[in-house]
Amino acid sequence: MSSYVACHDCGAVHRREPLAPGRKARCRRCGSTLYRRRHDPLNRGIAFLSAALVLWLLVHVLPLLTLRLDGAAHTATLHAAVRAIADAGLWPLALMVLAFVSLVPGTKILSSLIAAIAARQGWRHPIARLAFTLGQRQTPWAMLEIFLLGLIVAYVKLAALARVELEAGLVLLALTILCIAAADAVLEPEAVWSRIGRPTPPVPAPDRGVACHTCHWLAPAVARRCPRCNATLHHRKARSLQRSWAFLIAAAVLYIPANLYPMMIISQLGRTDPTTILGGVVDLFAAQLYGIAVIVFVASILVPVAKIVGLAWLLIATQRRSADSLRSRTRAYAAIEFVGRWSMVDVFMVAILASLVNVPGLLSIEPGIGAFAFASVVILTMFASASYDPRLAWDGATVRHGHG
Ligand SMILES: [Zn+2]
Ligand SMILES: [Zn+2]
Repeated sequence: MSSYVACHDCGAVHRREPLAPGRKARCRRCGSTLYRRRHDPLNRGIAFLSAALVLWLLVHVLPLLTLRLDGAAHTATLHAAVRAIADAGLWPLALMVLAFVSLVPGTKILSSLIAAIAARQGWRHPIARLAFTLGQRQTPWAMLEIFLLGLIVAYVKLAALARVELEAGLVLLALTILCIAAADAVLEPEAVWSRIGRPTPPVPAPDRGVACHTCHWLAPAVARRCPRCNATLHHRKARSLQRSWAFLIAAAVLYIPANLYPMMIISQLGRTDPTTILGGVVDLFAAQLYGIAVIVFVASILVPVAKIVGLAWLLIATQRRSADSLRSRTRAYAAIEFVGRWSMVDVFMVAILASLVNVPGLLSIEPGIGAFAFASVVILTMFASASYDPRLAWDGATVRHGHG
C-alpha cells in the first residue's frame, strides 16, 4: 500500500516510503522532518507513559523544596504554589499555572496512553482517535520542564539567603519529564494513527489533496472531514495571518504593563519592595548569581521581544509574498514555536517563591499583577505562533514565481 504525506511546514507532497527502524524522512523542499520510524514504538511508548502517569501522581503529593527560615520549615508543593497565587487574589494566573503544570500534562499522559494501548490492540474506535488528538494537541501547553527550571531558579535564589533543601518530589518531577520526553520520542504518530484510524484508501491524485492537521493523512481535495480521523479539514489554517496579527498586537500591548507592574512584592521587616521583570534581573546580577541572571534575562526579556519582532517579520514577509530565504524563515518559525513557552519560567519561579517565603512581619513574597500580565503575553504569543501557517510563505512565493 502506498500513501502520501504533505510536509507540515511547506505543504510539498511526498510519497511515503518504507523506512528502516531509527531512520527519518526529510522534506525535499524545506528540509523539515516528514516522519520517522521507531523500533517497537507502541510497547515502548506504553511503558514510558505508564511510568510517567505513576510519577506524575506522586509529584502531586510529595514536597518539592523545603526552606528553613526563622526556625520553621516551609515546604513547596505543586498545589502550594498554585494556592500562593490564588491567595494573592490573582486567581486567573493561579488557574493558568494549575493547567500548565498539572491538568494539561496529566491529560496528555493519560490520553496518549489510552491511544497507544488502543493502537497495540488494533481498536479502531472513535474514543481512541479522540484521545490521541487530545494528547497531541496539548504538547506545547504541558510545561513540567519549565516548572522544573523555575524550581531550580528559585532554589538558587533562596540558597543565597537561607537554608533550602531539595526534596524527593523534585527528583520524581525530573523523572516524569524524562519519561514524557521518551514517550514523545518513541511514539511515532503514524504508528498510532495507522492502527486506530478508519481504514482509508490513499488519495488517487496526491497533488490535489488536502493534508489533515490532526493525523497528517493526505485526503482528497473535496473532502470536508478527514476520512481517517474525522477532523475538519482546511487546505491552510483558516484566517491565519489575521488571527496571528491580532494575537501578536495584543501581546505587544500587554508587554508594556508586564514590564511596568511588579512581578512580585517582597516584604521584609515591614518594608515592601515591588520588583519588576527588569528589576529582578538586575537584583540577580547584583547578588552575583550570574547563571540564573542570564537564564531569567533570556527567558523573560530576550525571548518575548525576539518572538514578537520575529513573528512580525515572518508575517510581513509572507504578506509581501517574498521568496527570499524561505528555508531560513521556515526554520526561524520552528525556533519561535519551540522557544516561546520557556518564558513562563519567571512566572513559575514567582509562584514557588510566594509559596515558600511567607513569614509575615519577617519576610514574605507575593506575586504581583505584572506576573499575570506577563503570563498573558507568553500565552498570546503562543497563540500567535500557533495561528501562523508557514506553508502560506511557500504558497505566496510559488504563486509570484508562477506569474513572473
Ligand atoms: Zn517541506
Ligand atoms: Zn486526519
